[in-house]
Amino acid sequence: MVDSIAYNDQNYVTVNAHELAHQWFGNYVTAANGDHHWLHEGFATFFALLAEKKLFGEDYYYWKLFQSAEELKALSDEGKGEALINSKASSLTYYQKGAWALHILRERIGAEAFKKAIKNYLEKYAYGNATTDEFLAEVEAASGKDMDEFKADWLTQSAFQGTAALTSLKNSEFIRKYMEIAALREVPFQNKKEMLLEALKFPVNDYIGQEVILQLADVDIAEALPLYNIALESGNLYVRQAIAMSRQDVPEALKSAFEDLLKDNSYLTKENALMNLNLTYPEEAEKWLTQTKGIIGFSNLNVRMLWLVINLVSPQVDPESTQEYFEELSAYTRSYYPFEVRQNAFGYLYQINAFTNENLKDLLQASQHHNTRFRDFSRKLLETLLQNPDYRQKYVDLKGQLSEKDRAFLDTRLPDQQ
Ligand SMILES: [Zn+2]
Repeated sequence: MVDSIAYNDQNYVTVNAHELAHQWFGNYVTAANGDHHWLHEGFATFFALLAEKKLFGEDYYYWKLFQSAEELKALSDEGKGEALINSKASSLTYYQKGAWALHILRERIGAEAFKKAIKNYLEKYAYGNATTDEFLAEVEAASGKDMDEFKADWLTQSAFQGTAALTSLKNSEFIRKYMEIAALREVPFQNKKEMLLEALKFPVNDYIGQEVILQLADVDIAEALPLYNIALESGNLYVRQAIAMSRQDVPEALKSAFEDLLKDNSYLTKENALMNLNLTYPEEAEKWLTQTKGIIGFSNLNVRMLWLVINLVSPQVDPESTQEYFEELSAYTRSYYPFEVRQNAFGYLYQINAFTNENLKDLLQASQHHNTRFRDFSRKLLETLLQNPDYRQKYVDLKGQLSEKDRAFLDTRLPDQQ
């Protein structure tokens, strides 16, 4: 699924650690009923986060908590917060609010008592069932602390404890610095230039560096260039990635830097640098296409498909291969490809407005796919295509070639054509 370059962009450490953690939280000890579902998901999420902290460091740990706190707070502010002891909560609550509750608990009773409580809980209820109160009883026994207030604030209350969360996050020096920089978003560049420069100093932090780059996106390039140069020279993959992603219109002064970004060990960086260079300087496509030929990218073939599409919209580059490139792109919608490949191909075919009859049939099947996200994407696209009179007519003409199932599905989308 992931090669050494893709690992930098999207690895599955968290998924693997989460599922492993279920060996204990879920399998070894199982929640007594649905009300206590967080004893599985909150715990698996939190222990995965602890595993990631070992691998990726404390800043990563706090960054993940910061991000989930933002989501939980937004939901809570809308009045849609949910209690953790609840049989009908959303994944966000079970997973992220659950992890937050355990983070706070560990902070309040200390890592040692926390570990003891978890161990005793697992041993006591091994191969059996447990409730939240039974877990809390072990926490009280191990820590000597009363858990009523914790239970009220974090487990039975629907609102998210935003203030307590913020206080906890500020234990991290990194989070305090990040917040200082993020607070500058609306400040005019001249008034924050020194602070941004300071933030880019070696060794630049991944997240703070990215935040600085985002704040440069609308700054005049002559002003921003010295900062970009420091960021580029830092060699930090994620800060450089933010540059590739935030400057869609590549300034002349950054052109050679963008060409360098094509070589970074990140498929996200490669994809965005290639796309933005070609959007800004389409007449020079050939050079960059030669440089990136043969790069596949993620399992959805992000770099390869972009490469094919740039070839298709720059027919002067390699006129003899245009047909071959189109056929390759067009074939990626077939049902034997993974859905992330198919979705990417459908998206590009839409952008270049080039659906063949086969693609139209594939889209019809995709609209009935078992993966709901892919199915919803496909239905939306199908609906859009059916508003185009040409594609609508093509679908009507295709009816005779469809399986009974696909025809019946198409009929539901073309009620006046039955
Ligand atoms: Zn899980």
